[in-house]
This record gives sequence, structure tokens and C-alpha cells, in this order.
Amino acid sequence: MKTSIILDEIDRDAVRPAKEFSRYAEYLRFDLARLLIEDEVRWIERDCPGCCYQGAPVLFHKDGVTYHDCPRCFTRFVSPVPEQAALDVLGVRGRAAQFRRHLFEQRLKERFQASLRTNVLDWLLQRCDENSVGGRSYCEIGGENLGWFADVAENRLFEQVTLVSPIPTVLETPGVRQVGSLEQAGQGFDVLVTHTALDRHSDPDGLLGQMADHLAPGGLLAITAACASGLEHRLLGRDAPSLLPLDRLTVFSVEGIQTALERHGLRVIELSTPGRMDVETVASYLAERVPQETGGGDFWRYLMGRSDPMLRRNLQIFLQENLLSSYLRVAAIKA
Ligand SMILES: [Zn+2]
Repeated sequence: MKTSIILDEIDRDAVRPAKEFSRYAEYLRFDLARLLIEDEVRWIERDCPGCCYQGAPVLFHKDGVTYHDCPRCFTRFVSPVPEQAALDVLGVRGRAAQFRRHLFEQRLKERFQASLRTNVLDWLLQRCDENSVGGRSYCEIGGENLGWFADVAENRLFEQVTLVSPIPTVLETPGVRQVGSLEQAGQGFDVLVTHTALDRHSDPDGLLGQMADHLAPGGLLAITAACASGLEHRLLGRDAPSLLPLDRLTVFSVEGIQTALERHGLRVIELSTPGRMDVETVASYLAERVPQETGGGDFWRYLMGRSDPMLRRNLQIFLQENLLSSYLRVAAIKA
């Protein structure tokens, strides 16, 4: 199995600009608060979406929801979760979703998207080549970041390109079709891709099963997601800045996502955590707090305070090499 390491540094302020990110977090909390007070929204109890463990203990509460930590596969997940129909409505009309799309489309695109897109696309095409995956049909699920999708479509990397998204899109690329659900997309795709849709779905295990059903034999499933095995989540827990409940209803661990994929008949060919922001995220978290507030963070405070300029970079590379970063990239082949 492969593991990708990305050595280029990333500008954390460009990926997660503080002012916009804090406004986005506020909108997410606002949308979640509305869900919590709406009587007609059903909330569903669930088992671990990674390994199906029943009765995972409560880890903490955040913004009115309850996170559990699976003692068997280390996946973190909210339970109960709002029904998917309510999340779909929020995905189209919610304040946070609209703001997120505005950010992607208007601002972040110019500042950092190009290199990030090339990075993800190169990865995808390499895995296709290495595994002799056909180039006929590509399908992206929940694709909000139209920059990635537009690159695939405009560069004619696949003969047929489908976007599964309920969001009205302004994408005007000839030969591209958009449908509202995977059922409408059809069967037998050579490549299925999802960026962060699993994190936001109320039933990621069900969605993985659906995706496996819609792949052609020998087809490739490529996933990017947050990762509960990573330093940011393991060290900061409830305070992890990217742990915003509506965006992270599930945070798979490396063990959890592998177990889930294999359960659906998919063979994992790559499992990587090529995240580049854990160390900077932890460093700025510690810098904003007095030592008494961070307990076991003392070692980390000392480490982050060391003046060796290579230390942070080496640590982030160590995290990537050992699957301990908070961003997950997985590729799997349908048997
Ligand atoms: Zn589990």
C-alpha cells in the first residue's frame, strides 16, 4: 500500500484565513443551532461508522452535539446525528454553505487553489495510471469546490464527467452533466471521487456502500477527508479548530476508513495523511493559551518554542510518514 508525502510547505493563512474562518465557524454554529431547535428534524443514534462498534463512549460535547470516540478503531463521530434530508437542505440554503461556496469561488481560488488542485489531480491521475483504471467515466460526489471539478472537465481527462450535487451550479462546461443524487448518476463509473462529503454526511457508511455499488469492477474510489488519527485532533480534542460539528459529523481514523472500505469490497491501495497544518495549528493554539489551560501540552509548548527552524518542518513530515496528520487521502479499487 502506498503512502504519499507532500514536502512543499503550505501557507496556513491562505488555506484558513483567520477572519473568514472565524466567520464561517459562526455561521456553522448558527445553522446547527437552528437544526437543534427545529421539532421536525429527526436525530438518529448510530454506531461507529468505521468499524460498526456499538456503544462507543462519549468523548465530549460541542455546540450542542455529542462526540463519541471508538475504542476499537479510534474514529470520532457525532451521535445522534441530524437526518440527511435536513443536512441536504442546509447544504444548499444554509448560511455556512453559501459562505463556504462564496469563499471557494471568489477568494481562495485566486490565492491558493491552483497548486492545491494540481496536487490533487496529479495524485488522482497517477493512481489511475498505476492501476490501469479506465479513463472513460468520472463522477464527483458532493463537489462544492468547482475548481477541482472544472479542471477535470475542461482538460478532458475523462470522456464522461458527472457532478453529483443538489446545489445549483454555474458550471458551464460542455459535456458535463450534473445530477442531484448518486441514483440519478448511473452505474459503472471508472473513477468516483469525494472531497470531504463523508465528513458531513449523516451516514458515511451508507454513502461508501452506495459509491462501491456505482463503481465499475476495477474502478477507483478516491477520498479526501479529515483524519482522527492526526495530531490536531488527538492533542486538541474538543478544541481542535477544524472540528466544527456540521463539517465534521464523522472524523475517520486511518484504521476506521480502511475497515469501512474493506467492508464494502474495496481494496485499499493508498492510505496517506499528507496534511501540512497540524504543527502550525497546534503551535498557534498553544501560543494563545496560558500553560495551565493546556495540561499535557507542556511538552508540545516546549517543542514549539525551540528555535531550530527545521524542527516544525521535520515534525510535520514525521506525522505524514507515520499517518499521524489530520488530513486523510485514500484510494481504493473495487474488486
Ligand atoms: Zn470504530
